[in-house]
Amino acid sequence: MIDPISFSNVVEKIVTVKEGKFVKRKYYRFRGGRWYGGIATADTVGCNLSCGFCWSWKANTSIATYGEYYSPKEVAKRLVEIASNRNYGLVRISGGEPTIGFEHLLQVLDILSSYKYNFILETNGILIGYDKKYAKELSKYKFLHVRVSLKGTNEEEFGKLTNAEPSAFRFQINALKNLLEENVSCHAAAMLSFSSEEEKFKLVEELKKIDEKLADLEEEYVFLYPHVVEILKKRNLSPRIAYDPNKIPSTLV
Ligand code: SF4
Repeated sequence: MIDPISFSNVVEKIVTVKEGKFVKRKYYRFRGGRWYGGIATADTVGCNLSCGFCWSWKANTSIATYGEYYSPKEVAKRLVEIASNRNYGLVRISGGEPTIGFEHLLQVLDILSSYKYNFILETNGILIGYDKKYAKELSKYKFLHVRVSLKGTNEEEFGKLTNAEPSAFRFQINALKNLLEENVSCHAAAMLSFSSEEEKFKLVEELKKIDEKLADLEEEYVFLYPHVVEILKKRNLSPRIAYDPNKIPSTLV
């Protein structure tokens, strides 16, 4: 079972490298995409969880050999180029967990602060919930919105889905508290493919106790890409709700 905090340190040592005052991080792809109505995306390598539905699991389980190191300047440049060529207003880092190698993320954000784009930080929130300093640092960037993606609706589901200590689910919830306390724009998403309606209801009630705004939960479901089906089988997970990637409902894009 993974302790996601100590695992973050192990992953960080492999996926980042310091060069002078800048920190490089591993990425495996830069792309445009239809999510959020169009967003430039840098797919990074390395995560502190091991979700049994992760669409990026091949990169995240081969971190020593996958991807190449990019400086914050190179990452920002690639994102700005894609966004500008395609007329997007949004950029993001996806693929792995962007808060691992936090100094690198802050350096990317520093550079992007000179441009007109909004940045969506897609995170599992583990580190933000573990240490409030993450939320405090993020509060400096007013063009940033944080999407905390909860892995299931409670400790038990979280443990089963992520292979991590079930109690680490509390870090995910705590991330939302920390972000709101530091006035960082954020919302909660949750992987609900494996949850019952009752469990979803209980999660929403819990989120409401933190802040009524969090009741507007973004629902996430598994898309059955062949490599996702492969990991689901390996982990013996059967989604209650899942979508054919060729027929994604417009409400989920
Ligand atoms: S948190 Fe996201 S990137 Fe990390 S293993 Fe889970 S789905 Fe993959």
